Amino acid sequence: MGRAADPSRMSDTCIFCSIVDGEIPARTVYETDDVLAFLDANPLALGHTLVIPKTHAERVGDLDADLSSAVFDAVSEITPEVEAAVDADGANIGINDGEAAGQEVPHVHVHVVPRFDGDGGAPIHAVAGERPDLADEELDAIAADVSAAIDG
Ligand SMILES: [Zn+2]
Repeated sequence: MGRAADPSRMSDTCIFCSIVDGEIPARTVYETDDVLAFLDANPLALGHTLVIPKTHAERVGDLDADLSSAVFDAVSEITPEVEAAVDADGANIGINDGEAAGQEVPHVHVHVVPRFDGDGGAPIHAVAGERPDLADEELDAIAADVSAAIDG
């Protein structure tokens, strides 16, 4: 995993690696050998939590299978507890993968954003821009391209 293994991208330049290293304080709520979860310093909602791999990886596709599993295991374990702690009615869970998607810190992080009935927020469906109007053949072609890329 190229970028994940490059030590030059570690704590010197990455705020989340600095949190992992203890150089920057954080309100840690969960920690394993591979994963750290802490409260977002600028929360979008009560209990807004970030879940990160301790190893630097910029994009979701940079995570190897074990680390990817560890991150999602953590997400599934802590989400109900975060919701309970702030008496939330639900949560949105999401990753901004790449600058075009709004990623601000170039270290994979999963947002767990507690949601409350009537909080005025929106679903994940609201994050994209203008919706494309695609014909069935165009959808078929996209599916074929993605499938071929993964198989290749
Ligand atoms: Zn990092």
